[in-house]
Amino acid sequence: MAQTRGNLFILSAPSGAGKSSLIGALLKKHSDMKVSVSHTTRSPRPGEENGVHYHFVSVDEFKALIEKNDFFEWAQVFDNYYGTSKQAIESQLDAGIDVFLDIDWQGAQQVRKIMPSVQTIFILPPSKAELEQRLNNRGQDSADVIASRMAKAQSETSHFNEYDFVIVNDDFDTALGDIETIVMAQRLTLSAQEVRNKKLLNDLLK
Ligand code: GDP
Ligand code: ADP
Ligand code: 5GP
Repeated sequence: MAQTRGNLFILSAPSGAGKSSLIGALLKKHSDMKVSVSHTTRSPRPGEENGVHYHFVSVDEFKALIEKNDFFEWAQVFDNYYGTSKQAIESQLDAGIDVFLDIDWQGAQQVRKIMPSVQTIFILPPSKAELEQRLNNRGQDSADVIASRMAKAQSETSHFNEYDFVIVNDDFDTALGDIETIVMAQRLTLSAQEVRNKKLLNDLLK
């Protein structure tokens, strides 16, 4: 079977809706899926490792990367800079791996312009109260940070209608299954199957 290029997926959601947990669970199950590790200027949370969860850099380092044109997209979110480097995605897609970007709506708008084939997914929490509960339960952000993320949840959510798919992360396994369905369907599109089954189609149509 011929190798197809990997598909690019974006997951966005208000902070605490479950993006990172869902992507983490997905990668555990599927070795042919990867998440792009972003650069950020925010400080690491307890347990976050440089190069694994993010590449943690200073504002000066981030600005130097912008100057060098190293970013596929970048944005300012919650007073910090976040960006996806070109290097984080291109080689994986070329190797046929499906890549997930956990990025905000501003980044999603940029990526849609550069790569219109990107599939975008918006994750909703089941309620406002549950979102706040999850941010508190995560226990990694200060009360101030949680309050500011709750305040920004509405503006992030207002962009849900720019996305191809919308998933409510109420029951975790159901939401995970929903993401898997989207990824699997994308692997079966005409353009992918034509490449993958070139020989079969040649034989059948000869
Ligand atoms: P979380 O919302 O609790 O996962 O908190 P994070 O600090 O991990 O992420 C903060 C925000 O930055 C979220 O809206 C992310 O989607 C966004 N973000 C993370 N990485 C990137 C990136 O590489 N590019 C862009 N544009 N946004 C990012
Ligand atoms: P995000 O990356 O969107 O900020 P996280 O993945 O860090 O969100 O999830 C926030 C918190 O909510 C974490 O403590 C996580 O374990 C929990 N969580 C995620 N999904 C669910 C769910 N479906 N039900 C209950 N708790 C959840
Ligand atoms: P956190 O600080 O909680 O890790 O992330 C906060 C927000 O930043 C999340 O909504 C996350 O999706 C977004 N984010 C993380 N990395 C990137 C990135 O590289 N680019 C963009 N645009 N947003 C990002």
